[in-house]
Amino acid sequence: MYTFSKQIPIIATPDVLVCGAGLAGIGAAVAAARSGARTLVIERLGFAGGFFTAIIGSAFDGFVDERTGTPVVGGIVFEMLERMGVVAPGQGPHLRYNVNGDLSFVEMHPERVIPRCDPERFKRAADDILIEAGVQILYHTQVTDVVARDGRVETVLVSNKSGLVAIQPKTVIDCTGDGDVAAWAGAPYEKAEPLQPMSLHFRLAYLQPSFELRRRCAAVLAAAQERGELGLYGGPYPATFSGRDVYFNATRFPGDSTDPDDWTQAEIAGRRDAWTMFNLWKAELPEFADAYFMASGPTAGARESRRIVGDYVLTGDDVVNGRRHDDVIVLGAWRLDRHPPRLSGYHDIPWTPPYDIPYRTLLPRTLENLLVAGRCHSATSEALASSRVTATAMGMGQAAGIAAAMAVSANHSPRNVDMNALQSRIVEMGGILEIPHADEVDVGDPRW
Ligand SMILES: Cc1cc2nc3c(=O)[nH]c(=O)nc-3n(C[C@H](O)[C@H](O)[C@H](O)COP(=O)(O)OP(=O)(O)OC[C@H]3O[C@@H](n4cnc5c(N)ncnc54)[C@H](O)[C@@H]3O)c2cc1C
Repeated sequence: MYTFSKQIPIIATPDVLVCGAGLAGIGAAVAAARSGARTLVIERLGFAGGFFTAIIGSAFDGFVDERTGTPVVGGIVFEMLERMGVVAPGQGPHLRYNVNGDLSFVEMHPERVIPRCDPERFKRAADDILIEAGVQILYHTQVTDVVARDGRVETVLVSNKSGLVAIQPKTVIDCTGDGDVAAWAGAPYEKAEPLQPMSLHFRLAYLQPSFELRRRCAAVLAAAQERGELGLYGGPYPATFSGRDVYFNATRFPGDSTDPDDWTQAEIAGRRDAWTMFNLWKAELPEFADAYFMASGPTAGARESRRIVGDYVLTGDDVVNGRRHDDVIVLGAWRLDRHPPRLSGYHDIPWTPPYDIPYRTLLPRTLENLLVAGRCHSATSEALASSRVTATAMGMGQAAGIAAAMAVSANHSPRNVDMNALQSRIVEMGGILEIPHADEVDVGDPRW
């Protein structure tokens, strides 16, 4: 052990400090600032969007009730879709959407809009929405430690090119995905054994995506694995933004993103496996004749790590039964998508109805001026297989931002926020707390 003491500057004293500018962090920071709080967001990367942008491609899951194609998360997610040019201004809530760009969904409902979000457009839209909301942004700034006293986060220590510096906020929203702030402040947390695997996405140019291509790529990988030329892999799940290039979700590394060694290995193994796959496809499939390895994700992504234990723990039962809760703050809607850490290829993704995510899952036990939102909220590993996804995380963040600002202005703990007032404000800001068009669902349809 090494002990040292040092005086470090306090660089900010915001009303609300949002740690992590991923999906939840963008929602939280914009909502807090629009609710009147002096808001600072810090992010360890040089751009916002979290794993959505840092893995160079993702679908916008959790956004839609699969049965009717109606959105179940509103507000800031619609604004992001507008800013990226996916929907026309004001049209977001009135359209019907495909779940994502997966061709099996698209073929079922060709008339529905695909909520397709190019990560480069997402980065720009995120910068703009944060700046316009009046959020102070510090990129390349990583939470390094937390000082908590008497059940309150007193100081968040961060490191950046100024060195080690301190921030003393009134309220903190932990949107780091890994729950770094909450864990280091002493909140209880759990980690599944085993965790879902990490993945490094990669993007190939000069390639036409199709369902047939996906089938042929999968056959090449299965045969290579049988010959011992490839280890663990997932899918593959190819998807596109331009129609002329394809990003692949296909590498799989069974590791823990809160372990620096694991994360390092996930990057190294991910790059090795991505190139192995590319070379196999190039050698065996004529579609790859002109294909070019354009990029791998700036980082490997983690689907699951610390799950902070809150006042309520969302369960798999809540999700599969579409359970309602009095303190709903956003609806979840994605399937139970638990990537197996030790199996290759495709996995079962059972359908779920929309369900309520309670406010209590954002309140870490034992701490008073801290909320968590997004992938690290309070849920069992099974429930998180659904609630971890992008649109749901952004909706959680939006609710957490409003709640944090209300708590600061009333000078009490987020735990004491008036639920009716919070829910009204969420709806005023475009949030959706009731399942739209539920009357259209044919309950006799065997798919539901
Ligand atoms: C490989 C992969 C594929 C996926 N595919 C899909 C998909 O197709 N559809 C879908 O909807 N979801 C998908 N997901 C899930 C989805 O990306 C995440 O669950 C979602 O981004 C969660 O949002 P979040 O805001 O909670 O966390 P994140 O998006 O992870 O954001 C957390 C942010 O906090 C920052 N951060 C972390 N630690 C610190 C720190 N100590 N200090 C400062 N900043 C910090 C990170 O850099 C990041 O920007 C995928 C995830 C992975 C890993």
